Amino acid sequence: METETVAVHAGRSELAALNAPAPPIDLSSTYPIPDLDEAVEAFEALARGEPEAESPVYARLHNPTVRRFEVALAELEGTEDAVAFASGMAALTATLLAACEERRHVVAFRPLYGGTDHLVACGPLGIEVTWVREPCEVAGALRADTGLVLLETPQNPTLGVIDIEEVVAVSGGVSVLVDNTFATPVLQNPAAHGAAYVVHSATKFLGGHGDVLAGVVATTSERAARLRQVRILTGAVMHPLAAYLLHRSLPTLPLRVRFAQATATVLASRLEAHESVTRVLYPQPDGRQLRGPGAVLSFEVDGGIRVAARVLRALELITPAVSLGSTDTLVQHPAGLTHRLVDDAVKADLGITDGLLRLSVGLEDVDDLWHDLARALASARARIAA
Ligand SMILES: *Cc1c(COP(=O)(O)O)cnc(C)c1O
Repeated sequence: METETVAVHAGRSELAALNAPAPPIDLSSTYPIPDLDEAVEAFEALARGEPEAESPVYARLHNPTVRRFEVALAELEGTEDAVAFASGMAALTATLLAACEERRHVVAFRPLYGGTDHLVACGPLGIEVTWVREPCEVAGALRADTGLVLLETPQNPTLGVIDIEEVVAVSGGVSVLVDNTFATPVLQNPAAHGAAYVVHSATKFLGGHGDVLAGVVATTSERAARLRQVRILTGAVMHPLAAYLLHRSLPTLPLRVRFAQATATVLASRLEAHESVTRVLYPQPDGRQLRGPGAVLSFEVDGGIRVAARVLRALELITPAVSLGSTDTLVQHPAGLTHRLVDDAVKADLGITDGLLRLSVGLEDVDDLWHDLARALASARARIAA
């Protein structure tokens, strides 16, 4: 079935039996289990990392509302299973802990989301990293103790596209993690190209309305079991209200992504032609791995940080804010905010310049957005000239 159909029905198959047209929200922190044998059995099943048991036992071990969202997401990504977390960073942390238990070296593609870059680079998890930019560098970076190859495509914030199959082919059997936050399952399914772990900051397009902080990993049943064990131990669980909102947002995910993508395509070409813009970064989909360019683009204003700051202040409709994938259009300055913790020399090398702004296109009318952008660019220019 097509993504639109899957998105509407995923994770809802048991609702008819419950006579519940909408998924119920279970906020219980604990569950009564008078029979000790049954309690032990359920406890052991969940501690083994099984996705379900006779009783959820305790909210850190299992939650039925969260489970429904996991089933839905696995269906959308075409994986056996999925495991939900409190945030995208919690999902990445759990995956790093699970994949690098014995082999503590990671090969990671730059650029990455600034938080991920910092998590891997600064070492609270006891992980060592070798940075690469191109798939051809992976073979030379692999070590006997490499536990994971990590990448984002399209990349945050420069929107580069990496060939997942090429990376899998040169990774010598080491698991490949793909952060699929920017593309969403509507435009890209990394598992179909050999990725072992597909990670989302569900805070972004999956939630889609700027009101949920969440993360999720789509993967095999075996890997999911280990991730659940890590989640039980570290406590980075998704709240059931977040899971409910996420599941509620999935039926409109394809609509939202495709509408915002159409607007972003128009804005990218208008920015490209604008006299104050020196560079527009927007993915070039090949149609095979990436089925569309998506709704995030970056553009560089002529005049560096002074002009970029003036543009941000002059905008009236577009919201200057970090995050992305919401109903409203957001713009932010990667060098100063999301990628602040990345070394300055590395930022320069990656093209994360002082004049670069990242735009996450929302669901407003394209011409209303363009008028706001064009007016802010003109006013920033006029003020610099004055
Ligand atoms: C936002 C983001 C993250 C971190 O997710 P949180 O939900 O904020 O913890 C990870 N990767 C990418 C690509 C992101 O955009």
